[in-house]
Amino acid sequence: MKMKTLKLFVLILISLYAGNLSAQQQKYVMVIHGGAGTILKRNMTPEKEAAYIAVLTQALQAGYAKIKAGKNSLDAVEATIHVLENDPHFNAGKGAVFTHDGRNELDAAIMDGKTLMAGSVAGVTTIKNPISAARAVMEKSEHVMMVGTGAEQFAKEVGLEIVDPKYFWTKDRWEGLQKAIKEDSVKAVLDHGSKKSELFGTKNHDYKFGTVGCVALDKAGNLAAGTSTGGMTNKKYGRVGDAPIIGAGTYCNNETAGISCTGWGEFYIRNVVAKTISDLMEYKNLSVAEASKIALDKVREMGGDGGLIALDAKGNMTMPFNTEGMYRGAVTADGKIEVSIYK
Ligand code: ASP
Repeated sequence: MKMKTLKLFVLILISLYAGNLSAQQQKYVMVIHGGAGTILKRNMTPEKEAAYIAVLTQALQAGYAKIKAGKNSLDAVEATIHVLENDPHFNAGKGAVFTHDGRNELDAAIMDGKTLMAGSVAGVTTIKNPISAARAVMEKSEHVMMVGTGAEQFAKEVGLEIVDPKYFWTKDRWEGLQKAIKEDSVKAVLDHGSKKSELFGTKNHDYKFGTVGCVALDKAGNLAAGTSTGGMTNKKYGRVGDAPIIGAGTYCNNETAGISCTGWGEFYIRNVVAKTISDLMEYKNLSVAEASKIALDKVREMGGDGGLIALDAKGNMTMPFNTEGMYRGAVTADGKIEVSIYK
């Protein structure tokens, strides 16, 4: 072998080894999001920013503790989402946005990547932690999805915490609704009731913030994904978003990836985003990052926006978004936590 060829061969070997090493170091066991939207640093106070970072970190710690203790990925997802649902900064559980009628109607879903079992609830108003209700639907009923008062009755029967709807009320979200109603009526006049604004009354991107989601990978190599949300501010009666729709906002399969989406739900439903990512991986052999980019670009092309998180069973993750920011974070197998907000 000539000297030059030998050198090249050694260089290739070194870079392959380094690549492998960094791939190993980069093995993630959990990714989370706290919603995508027009999140600008200039609109954020240092206190608010610190609060978001603290809760995202706390949520990751809660889930990671489960994984470290050898619990399954469903336990990790549920524990993580509980922290985010109980914190008023996020549009899930306490702190959920308001419907046009001034109600908090919550949606949530969870899916098990090992068995492809799934559960979800939509339009619930009295269940403190909708993610647990979704899990109960999956594990304790023969159904996949329950809505409204039926879902609430079921949650009560399986012993979940039921609260007065007032529990979900927060001043910030209430003011957000008043602003949205005002802007929408101005918009309707300006648009002369164009078809698009009739279809999507809630056009303003700021109307959606803080849906939460989590994908976890446990020690046994099983994935789980979950999403919980109050939906979009000023949504009309009975509106259900993508989050509780299996395949749209939430999907999980050990063979491909766990996915949780956030953004303008109507576009995620019409593009069946989460399952599309899984299909691109399964049938086209794309990586989790490549598949996620394609699916999210489609949302953008159609006029929607948002982001998503996805994690495959090897620990590769991606957190793309096409908005100004997305509250997000991840934790590696050795417990290193990363949290970010802006682009
Ligand atoms: N995707 C959610 C929905 O449309 C909202 C969000 O993620 O912010 O209900």
